[in-house]
Amino acid sequence: MSTRRVAYYYDPDVGAYTYGLGHPMKPQRMRMTHELVAVYDMLDKMQVLRAKRATGEDMTRFHTDEYVNFLEHVTPETCDQLSNNGTRFLVGDDNPAWDGLFEFCSLSAGGSIEAAQRLTSGAADIAINWAGGLHHAKKREASGFCYINDIVLGILELLRFYSRVLYIDIDCHHGDGVEEAFYTTDRVMTCSFHKFGEYFPGTGTQDDRGRGDGKGYAVNVPLKDGITDESYRSVFEPVIHKITEVFQPSAIVLQCGADSLAGDKLGCFNITMQGHANCVQFVRKLGLPFMMLGGGGYTVKNVARTWAYETACALGIEDTIDPNMPWNEYFEWFGPRYRLEVVRNNMEDLNTKDGSLDKVRIRSGKQRMSITTNQLFNVPRLEEGGHGYYDYGCGHGPEMVPTRSTKRRFFASFARWDDRLQQVLVHNEGLAMPRLNIADLMESGGRSREPDAGSDAEEEMEVDEEEGES
Ligand SMILES: [Zn+2]
Repeated sequence: MSTRRVAYYYDPDVGAYTYGLGHPMKPQRMRMTHELVAVYDMLDKMQVLRAKRATGEDMTRFHTDEYVNFLEHVTPETCDQLSNNGTRFLVGDDNPAWDGLFEFCSLSAGGSIEAAQRLTSGAADIAINWAGGLHHAKKREASGFCYINDIVLGILELLRFYSRVLYIDIDCHHGDGVEEAFYTTDRVMTCSFHKFGEYFPGTGTQDDRGRGDGKGYAVNVPLKDGITDESYRSVFEPVIHKITEVFQPSAIVLQCGADSLAGDKLGCFNITMQGHANCVQFVRKLGLPFMMLGGGGYTVKNVARTWAYETACALGIEDTIDPNMPWNEYFEWFGPRYRLEVVRNNMEDLNTKDGSLDKVRIRSGKQRMSITTNQLFNVPRLEEGGHGYYDYGCGHGPEMVPTRSTKRRFFASFARWDDRLQQVLVHNEGLAMPRLNIADLMESGGRSREPDAGSDAEEEMEVDEEEGES
């Protein structure tokens, strides 16, 4: 039970915002988390801080000026008026315009930016922002309840001081916005564990591995419904262990999306609070500067339980936490057992059933999904440009701006190019585990890398064949 200096970012205003009646994303869950953190006497064990709100200018370190300008001015009344010239910044019902939207974004992003600064300044070893973790937001577009990508902004802050940052995402959904932002750089390794298959956002196959300088620096672990603590742990731990060994990150950002918990309204995994928190405990033990962020999570009482418990894990005091909840402002929400726990249910773990993952497919960029319904809907798009930070405009990117369809071709051809991709790397206690593609990451990741200009050219030539795949 080692002591780490923990900075905890919380803005008392956060619980007042609402995405609108009936919307599954409820900022109130951060207030409930805070209440539990308080009644478990954690506040005097850490630096409790209220971050300066991020400005529009701060946000444009990643997002486009026009998108940020739109968010600064949008209200439910002006949404249509501001979405002129065919520009659609808010697509579908997932991402409504609501009163206070920009303030909420400022608060969420401000927390992650300051959390990063707290780490780089050396004032804290672990920094927590449960209002952050909004991993779907794109450079010029809202997605999956996420408008401003506080994670990308936080990582950019870390990159000012650290040479390599590892981003880990344990949300039930693919961490697509963060992956896309750093897809072409080797300074950020992204690793996402998520449900894949008829599920938002539809990306994140094991063949999606980054490109250009970033090739091998995106790792995806697509999973099926019902994954249990044991299965999850048996893939999470070896993968993260191997990545840290090879990539040698200077700091780690963990998106603790809580929709991967059993019983989540939009999630489909069967992970308990302890199983979820095991990821926090495992990363904490690595002893690196560590940023913990929120994310999804739609059964709010379980989100609050888990993030409060994970705050205790950050402090290293989880063993002292009484599972019987002390009285608190939200006590009746936690009935009938009134315990700090999220228990598993009897759903089947499809990950162990057939021993391997489905052959996964990348969806066409023109098809979009709704995070609420997981239904496809078609959105005419004026342009299909890349969204990433490193794609262009920052001096790091390749000349070519990858579109979604070219990305798809790249991914498909990588799979054939590298016959080791389908190696099964992880077996643990008789469980047949997902096939992973970190074999060549181990070989080329971190330091030396073979030149791959030739292979890129080859991939471009395979376009027509790949288009025929379904
Ligand atoms: Zn999610």
